[in-house]
Amino acid sequence: MKVRKVPLRKCVGCQEMFPKMQLLRVVLTPEEKILLDLRGRQNGRGAYLCKNVECLRQARKKKSLERALKTAIPPVMYDDLEQMMVREAMDVGHGDT
Ligand SMILES: [Zn+2]
Repeated sequence: MKVRKVPLRKCVGCQEMFPKMQLLRVVLTPEEKILLDLRGRQNGRGAYLCKNVECLRQARKKKSLERALKTAIPPVMYDDLEQMMVREAMDVGHGDT
């Protein structure tokens, strides 16, 4: 069987490359809101993060998410993202084929 090439994206937290499917997309919408783009269809500038709160914390500490999105991210936004990720993490891991 042929191995299909998967598009790789860099996590702004750990700075490693992963298949796009394994990452979360964080989007800055044209309305300047920051969302977790779970379906991959949200318009706007995107950055990728592992499905791992640690990577979000690293991105927060290093401001790499702000750099990737070219915007200032208020602390409350990070807290929201963190909560969304924790919730998301509880949803994955079973029956996901
Ligand atoms: Zn990562």
